[in-house]
Amino acid sequence: MQPRTDPLEKFYEVGEEIGNGQSAVVRRTVEKATGRTFAAKLVRRRRKGAGDERREAAVLASLRHPNVVGLHETFQQAQHFVLILELVAGSELEEVLVARGGNLPEAQSRDVVRQVLQGLHYMHSQGIAHLDLKPENVMVSGQQPPWTVKLIDFGLSREVSGGTERALQGTPEFLAPEAVNFEPLSLATDIWSVGVITYLLLTGVSPFLGEDKQSTFCNIVAGDFDLSQERFENVSNLAIQFISRILVQDARKRPSALQCLEDPWLKTEVNFDETVENIVVDKKNKIFGSHWKTLYHVISASRYLQSTLSKMEVTAEKFVREEIVCEKNKGQVVMLELVPNLSCDFV
Ligand code: ATP
Repeated sequence: MQPRTDPLEKFYEVGEEIGNGQSAVVRRTVEKATGRTFAAKLVRRRRKGAGDERREAAVLASLRHPNVVGLHETFQQAQHFVLILELVAGSELEEVLVARGGNLPEAQSRDVVRQVLQGLHYMHSQGIAHLDLKPENVMVSGQQPPWTVKLIDFGLSREVSGGTERALQGTPEFLAPEAVNFEPLSLATDIWSVGVITYLLLTGVSPFLGEDKQSTFCNIVAGDFDLSQERFENVSNLAIQFISRILVQDARKRPSALQCLEDPWLKTEVNFDETVENIVVDKKNKIFGSHWKTLYHVISASRYLQSTLSKMEVTAEKFVREEIVCEKNKGQVVMLELVPNLSCDFV
């Protein structure tokens, strides 16, 4: 797909910002000729290596699947490379977890994981790995379950079947051991991330998250994670076994996406009656400004503290209230009141 070089505004009404990342801003956009709404991802040029922004477009142009965000067309502008993407009218999985205060009911988790794997199975069958799977890059469309899951952000994706590369890129807590060890990446690298996401969905705890990047990396290469019943309260054994089959250090021993889809946990029918609570993500709520990503990590850390400290005779409530104070951008200080109900207020 050749990018158009005409001004974007000639063909599209570019509207409000609906998301942003390290390299891009995403805006709601209406195609003038058809009135159809899209998401325009404006990737700053020169930020990544020359042509990197085009790689995301090249990957997406070769993919068409209900669980992978669709690409309509691209524009090359002076400051930006623009991807006109299918608009996902919903939320990032990360926002959903924040709205829930940590985790999802098992039936919903299973449905999300199954759809992530369906998207991956399709990509992997074309030899393409995502290599940056995390709750931020999994969007769910619709206001409430059952959702449709869409994989987004293919900035690190690549063809890996003809030879794998090494790269320590991505968010530390979701990196596979081979990425941390700077060993070749493969399709199995994505499967590890599915294991981390599943763990997070079911428990609200990021399994390898340490105090800092270094300790996170140590936890990953040591395969140090907790599969105890205390951590997986009200979660079936099938789910725990599914995670233990996936979070395997040796990439060659991990199941393929198709084998994961055949796992007894994912073969179980989703009964949405189990999921009594509806999850409404209110993007206008002030916690969903620039603060919520930090908030999410604090929630994950506080859950970890809660379960760890409950084993020592110290109340997590006291500890978390006293210790969790986040220094925010521009010197603003945020105190999060997370326990016992994981509610939060910015002051
Ligand atoms: P990173 O910081 O991981 O490199 P990025 O700069 O490549 O991210 P994306 O992750 O692709 O940017 O997009 C940033 C945010 O914009 C997403 O997290 C999501 O909230 C929103 N977004 C991206 N694509 C879409 C889409 N097709 N529809 C709706 N919202 C989207």
